[in-house]
Amino acid sequence: MKILKFGGTSVGNPERIKNLLSIIQPGDEKQIVVLSAVAGTTNALVEISQAFIIGDKQKAEALIKGLRLKYDAFIDDLFATVEGKNNGKELIEYHFNFIQSFAQELFTPIEEKIILAQGELLSTTLYHFYLTEIGVRSKLLPALDFMKIDEDNEPVIDYIGEHLTGLLKTATDNNLFITQGYICRNAFGEIDNLRRGGSDYTASLIGAAIRAEEVQIWTDIDGMHNNDPRIVKGTKPIAHLTFDEAAELAYFGAKILHPQSVFPAQRYNIPVRLLNTMDPEAAGTLISENGAAKGEVRSIAAKDGITAIRIHSSRMLLAFGFLRRVFEVFERYKTPIDMITTSEVAVSVTIDDTRFLGDIERELKDFGSVEIDVDQTIVCVVGDFSLNTHGYASRVLDAVKHIPVRMISYGGSNFNISLLIKAVDKVEVLRSLHNRLF
Ligand code: ASP
Ligand code: MG
Repeated sequence: MKILKFGGTSVGNPERIKNLLSIIQPGDEKQIVVLSAVAGTTNALVEISQAFIIGDKQKAEALIKGLRLKYDAFIDDLFATVEGKNNGKELIEYHFNFIQSFAQELFTPIEEKIILAQGELLSTTLYHFYLTEIGVRSKLLPALDFMKIDEDNEPVIDYIGEHLTGLLKTATDNNLFITQGYICRNAFGEIDNLRRGGSDYTASLIGAAIRAEEVQIWTDIDGMHNNDPRIVKGTKPIAHLTFDEAAELAYFGAKILHPQSVFPAQRYNIPVRLLNTMDPEAAGTLISENGAAKGEVRSIAAKDGITAIRIHSSRMLLAFGFLRRVFEVFERYKTPIDMITTSEVAVSVTIDDTRFLGDIERELKDFGSVEIDVDQTIVCVVGDFSLNTHGYASRVLDAVKHIPVRMISYGGSNFNISLLIKAVDKVEVLRSLHNRLF
């Protein structure tokens, strides 16, 4: 079994949806196709929900109308027969009436998640209808019947595997399955989701849950690049990454892959391929446990919007338990720490969630002086820097010798060197590292 996930732009217009078959090539092999909502739909549903939240029913209605017009045109182009068009119209009618009906309800986060789920429900059903119209056999697998998260919003892989396998068994003579990315049920059985961009995560979870042969993530660029193509000229797709390297890069701003989607595949050793719908022959990026070249710099990535906090305290000198008390402050405010560096009398950490920065700062002041720097960027160099390799750190530092560096982190893992710099220096740092390392 292979899992093929297509993102919002890959189903972004009727032409593209029709082209998917040239990639899927239905045949003897069993495949599960995971679809995102049509590009722009989830954003529109977020706006509609926001209008409902603030009680602006007129605005909500206008937004719903606008989105519906797009879908009316969409189905007109997608279907060729009167019957196909009618089925499409009925479907649109049903979902948009449903969305509109929330104007009458008390609107809570529960209702919001139901609205957000409509995009994937629409795209998958439309695709199933389209395949039926042209005589290609497929079966819809309702993600809400198997995709499950627990009280901590963590996926329950055993549950997913058991229920999905059960569904697949009801259609053993069928080879092509279609399901929704992103949406799921939570511990209370309510409709929920895997956060924005979560369709990648769905594909990886399905791959892990049923021990698929391979997961393919089809997007609109040819794999993960070795630097930010919007900033640096001459970037190249990375041919092969380990799971650990991919996890670092997915977190550090390489938008192509949802950060959490690496772990399920890694746990069950399911290879993940990042491929390009616009250029299906391109090799893309393979993510797998073994086989990536040793001792190689793989990629440079950056994450903006970072805040650095330095706690300076002479009490830290020769004390134990100091770091724990510092970290407990962040834990109390559920704020993840990204980078850490320490000296004998000071510790610096970075965060990107600043919602509780004021409270955190107030509590940290009990330990000593606190300095905060906003508008920072983490630049990370990912590669195989295992113990017997050498010289990478000096090449990285040499490339940024003309730039003020606030923090350096090396040795936390064998595959990452991170620098904290001012956001304004990012472009120069990415270019300079690229020239020096590739
Ligand atoms: N449709 C969802 C979003 O836009 C999930 C996804 O596309 O991966 O975030
Ligand atoms: Mg995406």
